[in-house]
Amino acid sequence: MSSLNHCIKFDLDVKDENIVFKDYFYKSIKLQKHKIYKAELIQPACPFCGSLDLLHNGHLITNIHYPTANASLPVIIRLAKQRVKCRDCDRRSMAQSELVNKYCSISNASKLKVLSALTEDRSMTSIARENNVSINTVQRVLGNCSHRFIDSYEYLPAHLAFDEFKGVDRQLHFICLDGDNHQVVQILRTRYKKTLLKYFGRFSPQARANVKTVTMDLNFYYQDIVRACFPNAQIVIDRFHMIQMLTRSFNSLRVQVMKTFDKRSRQYQLLKSPWKLYLKKFDELEKVHPRYNWHYKDCLTQAQVVTEGINTSTTLENSYNLMQSFIQAVETGDAHELKSLINCQDQIGTLMHKTLLTFKHNLKAVLNGAELPYSNGCLEGFNRKIKQIERTAFGYSNFTNLLTRIRLEENLYKEKEPNSLLMVD
Ligand SMILES: [Zn+2]
Repeated sequence: MSSLNHCIKFDLDVKDENIVFKDYFYKSIKLQKHKIYKAELIQPACPFCGSLDLLHNGHLITNIHYPTANASLPVIIRLAKQRVKCRDCDRRSMAQSELVNKYCSISNASKLKVLSALTEDRSMTSIARENNVSINTVQRVLGNCSHRFIDSYEYLPAHLAFDEFKGVDRQLHFICLDGDNHQVVQILRTRYKKTLLKYFGRFSPQARANVKTVTMDLNFYYQDIVRACFPNAQIVIDRFHMIQMLTRSFNSLRVQVMKTFDKRSRQYQLLKSPWKLYLKKFDELEKVHPRYNWHYKDCLTQAQVVTEGINTSTTLENSYNLMQSFIQAVETGDAHELKSLINCQDQIGTLMHKTLLTFKHNLKAVLNGAELPYSNGCLEGFNRKIKQIERTAFGYSNFTNLLTRIRLEENLYKEKEPNSLLMVD
């Protein structure tokens, strides 16, 4: 073999023994300068009978897109595939190579490069441009690996987390994560009860019996699903969600009380501008150094502001104390304290009362939320990541593509090793 052949093979990282490079040159194709390598793909033996007695019958010339270091100078391998007819079995065949699949003109190396780029947070357009392929090719590579994520129905993790996120067409999709290792168990197109029941119903009874806890927000039919599908599972209400509900109802009560005062009054201003202080934990408020605030025209510490603010109404004071103790109890996992707080008879305003009533109806699940270490915190982080994926792509119109992309990016995130994704057809 010539040294030119070796040199080009080394340069392009082509290992196939049957490919022989013969020439290279520049050529302008559609006004763009291309780097062209000419090569021949040899058919050494008949693929059907292994005979070496072949009759050569010309070549099929294909232009193969190959990865390049410089995206403005695309590389094309002009490969002449030998066509042969076997003298022994009389059958015709054409040489094939690992370099490119049959009927394809995009090299497998290019596809792999596209696939590994798809595991990063990049838009398909930029991937296509860098690899000198069309956006359709990138989409096809993405579509080709969607079958990788077909799950078995034999196993479910012990701790699940349910949530939803906004995706294609502003629809809400259902997502289920493993509570321990935070990997996606499943993403479903819709979050309707029927779909969920059908999906989880497909799992074997052993798999469903394996589920010990399911973390969720206070969506009422998720609980029905758990009761219907997982005989051994405890329902856990996400503790951040509980606190959020309570904080929201306190906040609307604060606004209600605020509106009973005159806009120029001190009480109104104390309840209005420093609203964020009311949502903080009382222990974390500044108690020593007072600050002047021009809204209420006084020099007060943060603790003084809050104390004076809630003193404007008994209802507000009661609900503030309740909220603070509730957060405290949730954080320390004090189920006993939580129970007495939920059964609290103080005057606390209708909305807060409604929230507590909801908690009361789901008492066991709420107490689980405080006692068990599981929460939907992992899901919130994951939702943030999905939003990023969608933003980078300016939105997805195809749910399967979005799903595959999420899975691809997630896999890399977990393993930092794209090798498991190698070889697409
Ligand atoms: Zn043969």
